[in-house]
Amino acid sequence: MTSLEAEIGAIIAREGPISIARYMELCLGHPAHGYYTTRDPFGARGDFVTAPEISQMFGELIGLWAATVWQKMDAPGAVHLVELGPGRGTLMADALRAATIVPAFRAALHVHLVETSPLLRQRQRDTLASFDVPLAWYRDLADVPQGTALFMANEFFDALPVHQAVKAPDGWHERMVAWDGDRLAFAVHPAPLSDLAPALPHELQAAPSGALFEWRSDAVAREMSRRVVRAGGAALIIDYGHAESALGETLQAVSGHGFADPLERPGELDVTAHVDFGALARVALSEGARVHGPVPQGWFLHRLGIAERAAKLKSGATAAQAEAIDAALARLTQGGRTGMGELFKVMAFAHPALGDLPGFDR
Ligand code: SAH
Repeated sequence: MTSLEAEIGAIIAREGPISIARYMELCLGHPAHGYYTTRDPFGARGDFVTAPEISQMFGELIGLWAATVWQKMDAPGAVHLVELGPGRGTLMADALRAATIVPAFRAALHVHLVETSPLLRQRQRDTLASFDVPLAWYRDLADVPQGTALFMANEFFDALPVHQAVKAPDGWHERMVAWDGDRLAFAVHPAPLSDLAPALPHELQAAPSGALFEWRSDAVAREMSRRVVRAGGAALIIDYGHAESALGETLQAVSGHGFADPLERPGELDVTAHVDFGALARVALSEGARVHGPVPQGWFLHRLGIAERAAKLKSGATAAQAEAIDAALARLTQGGRTGMGELFKVMAFAHPALGDLPGFDR
């Protein structure tokens, strides 16, 4: 039994079954035993590989995206560049390096990193130490100073706790994690939920008995939308998920690049769920932001010129390096089982005055 499993067992003995969201939050963020608190999971030898870890092209193109949006904002002399869940800091490093080709943008930047894991904060500090730019860290988006801002979040929302509810004849019941004598097990709360309706789009309210619906707190998406509408700017969200809200379960655990039971070895596996881009869009629109996309990641990266960037990198490369660049390009942009190009989606929330944004044009 993992230390966290024992602790969750004690919480359930004391308070009764806990929500899936509370369980997920403990698994990922527990101050002593959480998955992100205790390890750096990225890379070939870790549990999974993210886009910025596959190739420098990803962060570079996002850095140029940010510079272009800044120009559309009339090039303010100071702008916050805020990243949520920066991992190893690779995306930010590649973005800052690419941004040097727009010196006035590079000079305007104040970088803010929102990260809960002390271990990953240190990793980010090491990655970004050589950049001459003001850097600051926060646990929560709410603590980032107000002002004109560009936000970026790659594989951040999938790590935010998700709730699940199951439809029964008397309404939706929250799915819980209980203790069944010798192990953790799923259970259903006996009383129907009274307040699911705001999260559940109208067309899904008549779901049949047995249907499952997942939702997250809308706090982060709401805060980002309010900020871009109030002070100007845009937020770029990249993650795996579905373009429209839908029924069904996507909660998953990943360990050593394969899938596992999310109730197994809590704290030692990455527990995530797909991002509901339909839900994000509803929040952003309700705050008065303009929503761009979602578009598939492959589409977005091609519109930003990833093929040209790959050709440029290959022109000065050895045969082995050129092969690696082609493999990274395929992985980032193609569909299918191994590609990130279709499952991953890109969405932006922006101040409505900004007009069209790069990467989203049809
Ligand atoms: N963006 C990085 C890492 C993605 S993994 C990449 O693409 O490689 C998720 C990241 O979000 C990790 O850095 C994790 O520690 C952080 N994280 C998870 N939950 C968080 C929360 N509630 N607040 C802030 N950071 C969080």
